[in-house]
Amino acid sequence: MTSQFSSLKEMQTAIEEVLPKQCELTKCEVEGPQVVLYLKNIKAFYEDRNLLTKLASRVRKKITLRSDSSVLLPPEEALNKIKALVPPDAGINEIKFDTAFNEVVIEAHKPGVVIGKGGLVLKSIVLETGWNPRVLRSPTSPSEVVRAIRASLLHAGEDRKKFLVNLGKKMLVPSMPCDWVKVTALGGFREVGRSCTLLQTPKSNILVDCGLNVDSSDPARMYPYLNSMGMALDQIDAVILTHAHLDHSGFIPFLYAYGYEGPLYCTPATRDLTVLLLQDCINVMNGEGKGSPYGEKDIKKMLSHTITREYGEVTDVTPEVRFTFYNAGHILGSSQVHLHVGEGLHNLVITGDFKYGRTKLLDPADTRFPRVETLIMESTYGGSHDMQPPIEEGAAKIARVVRQTMERRGKVLIPVFSVGRSQEIMLILEEQFREDMGLKVYIDGMSKEASGIHTVYPEYLRHNIQRRILQNDSPFDKPLFSNVVPKNRKDIAESDDPAVILAPSGMLTGGSSVEFLKLLAHDERNSIIFVGYQSATSLGRKIQMGSKEVPVINDKNKLDTLKVNLQVETADAFSGHSDRNQLMAYVRALRPKPSRIINIHGDEAKCDDLSRSLSRMMHIDARAPMNLDSTRLK
Ligand SMILES: [Zn+2]
Ligand SMILES: [Zn+2]
Repeated sequence: MTSQFSSLKEMQTAIEEVLPKQCELTKCEVEGPQVVLYLKNIKAFYEDRNLLTKLASRVRKKITLRSDSSVLLPPEEALNKIKALVPPDAGINEIKFDTAFNEVVIEAHKPGVVIGKGGLVLKSIVLETGWNPRVLRSPTSPSEVVRAIRASLLHAGEDRKKFLVNLGKKMLVPSMPCDWVKVTALGGFREVGRSCTLLQTPKSNILVDCGLNVDSSDPARMYPYLNSMGMALDQIDAVILTHAHLDHSGFIPFLYAYGYEGPLYCTPATRDLTVLLLQDCINVMNGEGKGSPYGEKDIKKMLSHTITREYGEVTDVTPEVRFTFYNAGHILGSSQVHLHVGEGLHNLVITGDFKYGRTKLLDPADTRFPRVETLIMESTYGGSHDMQPPIEEGAAKIARVVRQTMERRGKVLIPVFSVGRSQEIMLILEEQFREDMGLKVYIDGMSKEASGIHTVYPEYLRHNIQRRILQNDSPFDKPLFSNVVPKNRKDIAESDDPAVILAPSGMLTGGSSVEFLKLLAHDERNSIIFVGYQSATSLGRKIQMGSKEVPVINDKNKLDTLKVNLQVETADAFSGHSDRNQLMAYVRALRPKPSRIINIHGDEAKCDDLSRSLSRMMHIDARAPMNLDSTRLK
C-alpha cells in the first residue's frame, strides 16, 4: 500500500514520465516520509501550476523540490539576496544555511511575511538563490530550549540526512499481504503512567508512546514492559508519540540509548515540549539520587531521529501501516493517532490523553475519522462520579480563594504540570487580576520555557489566543507574571506581599512545588489549590484528602514530617482530561462508530467502570485489559 514501487529506480522512471525534461532532474530520493527531487531548473517546474499535484498523485507521497547543488548561489550572496527580497516587517531573527538539505533556514517574528501572499516571496527566494527556504517562527519571549533544538538539528544535518534516506529505502519494498494485526499492553493499562502500546502486523512493530511512571521509584512499576516484547529494540520500526507528558514520552530516550535507531513521529510542538520535559526529568531524577536511565546525549539522538508531522498529514510508517495525527485538545501539540493497517484491513484510533471540551487554550478533540473499527481510549476520569464543573466555575473558585488569601496576606500555591495546566491557569489569572491589584504571580520551573514554546506554535491554540500572540499581545508575556530564581524562593514565601505561585510538579511528586510547600504549609494564612489529576499514591492526593501531617524529605535529605495547616482547595475544572460526561459524549460523537473499545490510562476501577458503561449504554464491545495482555484486532 505504501508505495506501488519496489525500488527507487522504478519510482524515478515514473516521475520522469510526468516531469518535463527541461526541469533537469539530477537526483530523486526518498527522505523519510517524502520524495525529494533535485532539479537544475526549478523555474521550468513552476511553469506548469498543476505539476506538483500530478507528481504527488503519481507517487502517492509528499513531494519536495530542491535545487541541484551546482545551481546554488554561494551563501554570502544568497544571504544578501534574501535580505533584499523579504520585507523588513518580517522581523528576521536569523538566516542559516543547511547544506545537508540545500535549504536556508529563516527564523522570523512574522513567518507569514517571509512566505508572502500565495508563497510569492518564498518562490522568488528559490528562483533567485536556488536555496529552498524553511521558515520558522521566533518565540515572543526568548526560549532557550527552542534555540537549542534548532541549533542541534542544524548541527546534525548530515547525520539526519543519512538517517532519513535510509528510512526511505525501507519503505521501497515489494508489498506483502497483511492479514493480521494485534496490540500488546506494555504499560499504562489499568494504571496512569508508563503508557506504551505495541502495534504489530506480519511485518511491522510500532510503539505508540513509551512513558515513565514518574510517581513511582520502584523500577518494576516505573518502566514499560519492553522486555516482554521478546525482540531487540532495533526491531522496532517506529515510535509514535501522542504528546509531551512524561507518562507518554519519558522512556523514549532509553530506546535510543539501547539500540533503537528508528524514527520518532510527533507534532513539532510535541517535539519541543518533550525535549524540555525530558531534560528536566534527568535533572530531577539525578537530583533525587534515583539516577536516570538515560542521559543528555540520548535525548540529542532522539531529537535527530524525530520526524515532525502536522495534524491531518497522512504518513507511511512501514509498508503496511500509515498514520495521521488529529487534535486531542489535551496540551499544546497533543494528538490522537489514527492508524490504517494493510489495504483497508483495519483502522484504529489511539486517543492518547484527550479533552473533549473547550479549555482556555485549546479546541476540543476531533471526533471524525475516515474509518475506525477499534478505539483505544484514555479513562483517567472514567468513574461514574468523575464530573468536572464548568471552566467558569473553576475560574471563579480560583479567583475567590486568591482574594481570600490576599486579605490574609498569605500566599497561594498552585502545583501545576509545567506544560498545559500552567498556561491554562496563567490565562485565568491574567483574565481575573489586573496588574494594578497588588498581586504578583510567580512562575517557577519550566513553565516559563513552556509558555515560550506556546508562542512558537500559535496555530495550535484557540483562535483568540492565537490572534493575541500574532498581534504581539501574548498573554504569557504580561508584567503580572514574574519568574522565580531558586535562591529567591524563601524570600517570596516569607514576604508580606500577596502572591500566587505556580510551580511544578502538579502532583507534588517532586520539583519546586514541593519546595514551596515546605515553606508555606505551616502557615494557615496560606492556601494550596489543586487544579489537576492527583494519582493514588502522590503527596498531592494525600493533602487533597485532608492529611494534616505528610512525609517529606528535608534539606538534610532525611525523611521528615510536614504539618499541613494551609487552606486546601481543589478546582477541578481545568483538567486537560475529559471528565466522565465528556468521555461518553466523545464516543457518542465519534464518526464512524467503532465496534471495539479498549479502555486504558486510568486507575483499575475507572477503566472498568467506563468500559462497563460503554458496553451497556452504547452496545460496543468495550474492555479494560491488563498490562501484558495482547488483543488480536483482526
Ligand atoms: Zn498527558
Ligand atoms: Zn497521560
